[in-house]
Amino acid sequence: MAILDSTLDLQSFYPSDLKIFSVDDTEDKIIIHMHSVSTSCTCHRCGALLYRHHGSHHRTVQDLPILGKQVILDMQIYDYECDSETCKPFAPTETFDGFLNYNSRMTNRLEDFACVLAIETSCESSARIMKSMNIKISGDTVIRLLLKRYSAQPAKTCGSVIGIDDFAFKKRHTYGTIIVDEETHEPVAVLDGRDGVTLKNWLKQNKHVTAVTRDRASAYAKAVEEILPDCMQIADRFHLHQNLMTAVNKILGREVPATNDIPVTPPGKDTNSSAPEKKTGKKNRIDCG
Ligand SMILES: [Zn+2]
Repeated sequence: MAILDSTLDLQSFYPSDLKIFSVDDTEDKIIIHMHSVSTSCTCHRCGALLYRHHGSHHRTVQDLPILGKQVILDMQIYDYECDSETCKPFAPTETFDGFLNYNSRMTNRLEDFACVLAIETSCESSARIMKSMNIKISGDTVIRLLLKRYSAQPAKTCGSVIGIDDFAFKKRHTYGTIIVDEETHEPVAVLDGRDGVTLKNWLKQNKHVTAVTRDRASAYAKAVEEILPDCMQIADRFHLHQNLMTAVNKILGREVPATNDIPVTPPGKDTNSSAPEKKTGKKNRIDCG
């Protein structure tokens, strides 16, 4: 049997500017004591490269767990001086190239994991799963993380052809409007309501739109007509097909009786000798939707 002649180097899992000087391994958590040895830092406000220490502070940060044990980073890190007038008197804290957010109590990789898990499950479910992994986080914190990341995203630009449709946040209660770029097939905006008011505000900021595909409801048609009168409006194929099937079903329901008389010939009786007896049976349901 091969014998392992090496062990994992804990330091290799952390930025080189964060030096580990001791580790406390308790029954349910691992506390890693570390301090910064950095000599420069990028200001997260103006992007300038900074070299002068302003001071240092102590911070406790949660990281991804190790074999089911909660991991706490006990850190001593630097603040830097930024000469930019827009940043003074703010002293930027080092972020170790994306390892740490300047004011977060979690490492970025733990936030990434929490957000991915929440998107795949739900905020409360993800918090329960993470609790079982010894990650201390609440459902409310997960929501705040998702909102923070959503608001940090740059505004998406869209092409000149868009698709508009409504969707339910909660069916029969709350509805929204989604706008999709028809060239990239990616959503570019999610708006509250489906009465066209929020759509008008969005169109005022995107007057380069030249064509809109939409359903046949009047709210969106009026909003587009009012803000972009020269814009081409196209009733999309999905909604035309849906409307056609609804109309066909309505006509079938009205014109075709609910029961039909089915002719029945008794055994041994000549089918041509007499008129067939009739039996009433239920018509098979026709589903055209
Ligand atoms: Zn700055």
